[in-house]
Amino acid sequence: MSITGIKGMNDILPGDVETWQFLENHARRIFRAYGFAEIRVPVVEKTELFCRSIGETTDIVEKEMYTFDDKSGHSLTLRPEGTAPVIRSFIENKLYARDSVAKLYYLGPMFRYERPQKGRYRQFHQIGAEILGVEDPKIDAQLLAMLSHYFEAVEIGDVELQINSLGCPECRPGYRKALTAFLEERLPALCDDCRRRYLTNPLRVLDCKVPGCREATAGAPAMLDHLCEGCDSHFARVQGFLRDLGTPFVVNPRMVRGLDYYSKTTFEMVTNSLGSQNAVAAGGRYDGLVEDLGGPALPGIGFAMGVERLVLMKNSQQVEPPRPELFIAALGEAAANHAFRLMTSLQRRCIHCEMDYEGKSLKSQLRRADKLRARHVLILGESELTAGTAPLRDMDGGTQDLLPLAGIEELLAERWTVG
Ligand code: ATP
Ligand code: MG
Repeated sequence: MSITGIKGMNDILPGDVETWQFLENHARRIFRAYGFAEIRVPVVEKTELFCRSIGETTDIVEKEMYTFDDKSGHSLTLRPEGTAPVIRSFIENKLYARDSVAKLYYLGPMFRYERPQKGRYRQFHQIGAEILGVEDPKIDAQLLAMLSHYFEAVEIGDVELQINSLGCPECRPGYRKALTAFLEERLPALCDDCRRRYLTNPLRVLDCKVPGCREATAGAPAMLDHLCEGCDSHFARVQGFLRDLGTPFVVNPRMVRGLDYYSKTTFEMVTNSLGSQNAVAAGGRYDGLVEDLGGPALPGIGFAMGVERLVLMKNSQQVEPPRPELFIAALGEAAANHAFRLMTSLQRRCIHCEMDYEGKSLKSQLRRADKLRARHVLILGESELTAGTAPLRDMDGGTQDLLPLAGIEELLAERWTVG
């Protein structure tokens, strides 16, 4: 029996990987313009890092982490998200001493033991960005403007930016109390999970996807009505800057996040096209997190986009796989050897070139050139070698050129690498 991969962990195959590269390349290009530098952190961390940052009573820590003991008995966890490892590294490497603002981005796999379904996997990928050191609401607006710009650039239009405020340690306890009291009266209507967590993590109940819980909490008190003066004015200023920048958004007072470290501004990029997996990107402010993890008291804000969900949205539009610039169709051994040298020499100039390696018929070679959607085909046989010229067919225009074989590499390289 052959060995299969692990449930919920996918291979990314040629044909799809082009979409991934497209999404990654745009992220790198755009994030760079906003002053972000890439950071790469390990995929495993000490388990304690996630328990302390994400929160003991969250779904992620309660049931979704891949945790194991290594051979020395240390408890390690495959990272379920990127923010905690980035902050751990930021503190450990004293990145705060380099500049008063740190703008960092990352790309890579995350791991959560969830029930696999469309848009939800056990290994999935995130592209995330974090800004550390700035409390001013301009930075919230800037990060959201960048996120919005990204969706425009990759032409994923069917999304809505929803924002909310989750308050701060000053005003959230009052809200929690009001919410707990509200939930207490509706306990019989809630699912088992929510009945269990309404005391430990009442905000999570608002995020529950069970229809009964949604209905029961329809009139729940909103955090926005309980914000302290500081949080209220911060949220108003974020919205003002977003309007100034022309970044479209809606306020969703019911939005909460599944991680405990968020405060003040939180947000999601939401779509209708992925069923219940409707968040393609999510994030928010986490002003206490750096200090909680043993670093200086610096504010932070960030987001993570789920790449699989972006790919699902993009795939209905198809990103084209790369087309070879040239296919050399060679007939006979001498011509094939010549073609092989020519192909390699063009590849060394980074021109995408293909040929047949096995002496197939001209017809079958041309069929393959067609299948690969080669832009040009050069036909090379005994008579072309003798004449010292060969026909180059432009497959899109249908025109044909007779080219001298001597110096053809330079000629083609000049044609195809400029412009
Ligand atoms: P959801 O509500 O869909 O479970 P979440 O709140 O757990 O999402 P975050 O932890 O905020 O998600 O992660 C940010 C993004 O990462 C999500 O918006 C989503 O696009 C993606 N994501 C999260 N979990 C998964 C998963 N198991 N498989 C694929 N993508 C995921
Ligand atoms: Mg989740």
